[in-house]
Amino acid sequence: MQKKNVVILGAGIVGISAALHLQKRGVSTVLVDRQGPGEGTSYGNAGIIEGNTLFPYPFPRSARALSRVALKLATEANYHGGFLPRIARWLWNVRQATTPAGLESTARIMRPLFERALAEHEELVEAAGAQRYLHHTGWLRVYRSDDALNKLASELALADESGIPYQKLSVEGSLALEPSLAPVFKHGVLWPQAASYTNPLGVSRAFHAHYLSLGGESAKGDAKTLRRVQGGWAVTTEEGDVHADEAVIALGPWSPDILQPLGIDLPLAVKRGYHWHFAAKGNASLSRPVLDADVGYILGPMEQGIRVTTGAEFAHRDAPPTPVQIGRLMPYAKNLFPLGEPVEPTPWLGSRPCFWDSRPVIGRAPGQSGLWLDYGHGHSGLTLGPVTGRLLADLMTGATPFTDPDPFRAERFL
Ligand SMILES: Cc1cc2nc3c(=O)[nH]c(=O)nc-3n(C[C@H](O)[C@H](O)[C@H](O)COP(=O)(O)OP(=O)(O)OC[C@H]3O[C@@H](n4cnc5c(N)ncnc54)[C@H](O)[C@@H]3O)c2cc1C
Repeated sequence: MQKKNVVILGAGIVGISAALHLQKRGVSTVLVDRQGPGEGTSYGNAGIIEGNTLFPYPFPRSARALSRVALKLATEANYHGGFLPRIARWLWNVRQATTPAGLESTARIMRPLFERALAEHEELVEAAGAQRYLHHTGWLRVYRSDDALNKLASELALADESGIPYQKLSVEGSLALEPSLAPVFKHGVLWPQAASYTNPLGVSRAFHAHYLSLGGESAKGDAKTLRRVQGGWAVTTEEGDVHADEAVIALGPWSPDILQPLGIDLPLAVKRGYHWHFAAKGNASLSRPVLDADVGYILGPMEQGIRVTTGAEFAHRDAPPTPVQIGRLMPYAKNLFPLGEPVEPTPWLGSRPCFWDSRPVIGRAPGQSGLWLDYGHGHSGLTLGPVTGRLLADLMTGATPFTDPDPFRAERFL
């Protein structure tokens, strides 16, 4: 393979999007992954493009919420006891960063990315011919208690200020949108600016095929073989050594495997999450993702069935799966929607790559010339992959960045 301008390590939604943006600007690129495009974390998400997202996921503050997590009764979170000391400092930082003032500050910092996210997807979907996966039906969140709805007040106030539309719905209004739901909740809120995919893997594959059609190249290989060579970087792939002037780390939760040996140790942790597809009983169907807010899971209509996705599990990335949250939440999911038999024998497990300040790292790698970072997209990597790909391409090509890149620099942690 001829020497390229840029080698991108990681062909998840983040790496593919960055490669597409660079390739479109005439930068010759090669994408390297050890498996097929989109088969990592990007395979298993809830499929939501969150144009509406404001507040990041907060650390639980009430004694009741904390004790339910501690006693392993919570549906929304689980943890491996032996692992907690390893992320105690990271958890403490999340707690400090998600005070009411912290939530609002993060929302304002992240808004330029979320605001542009859906338009970036629409552009790529159109170019890649992936329209059949994209649905502009919004995101419905249902609330079983008045208390849960009341907690939304500050987020809704910020939505009003930011001009983000939402509709408060009665039970009847919610059922008019989703007639297969059971009226086991008290309130609904529809966020019409969100969209969703019915096959995130299909989307990654379509974007990747579009990338190849633009002259981009792709190879299977282990990112751990990345090494500095005269005039740039080299990686060993099944097609031989790939050489490039510059390299991008877009390895999601695996990024530290390559960065730590290079002396770059940023505070990334993972929040593991599960999904499981179920057949719908009878003629039941969903037209959009539904968050059961008090319980903490999402039902999403996918080509494979109804995808139930869990909240966070704090455990080592590579520890064996412990899908106890699915067991805890299934009674609630089944009383909200008529779920039938599971489609697969066991749930899927993935790891959200998360920095404690709920922002990705986009930009130059500190202390390593010609190395760039594009990872740590947390709960919203599907949403943000294309827009952060644009920001990275702006920075790498010397174009004026479409938004201030400073809040996303790695140096904020140093
Ligand atoms: C349960 C769940 C639900 C979610 N729901 C949503 C949602 O609705 N909306 C949303 O916006 N986001 C959601 N997310 C988050 C989103 O899926 C992730 O943020 C996003 O997929 C991260 O993409 P990525 O490209 O950075 O990582 P990945 O998709 O994991 O890509 C990294 C790639 O690196 C490769 N790799 C790793 N190590 C090596 C190596 N040594 N050599 C070569 N290749 C390697 C992997 O094979 C992989 O393909 C969810 C996540 C989970 C787990």
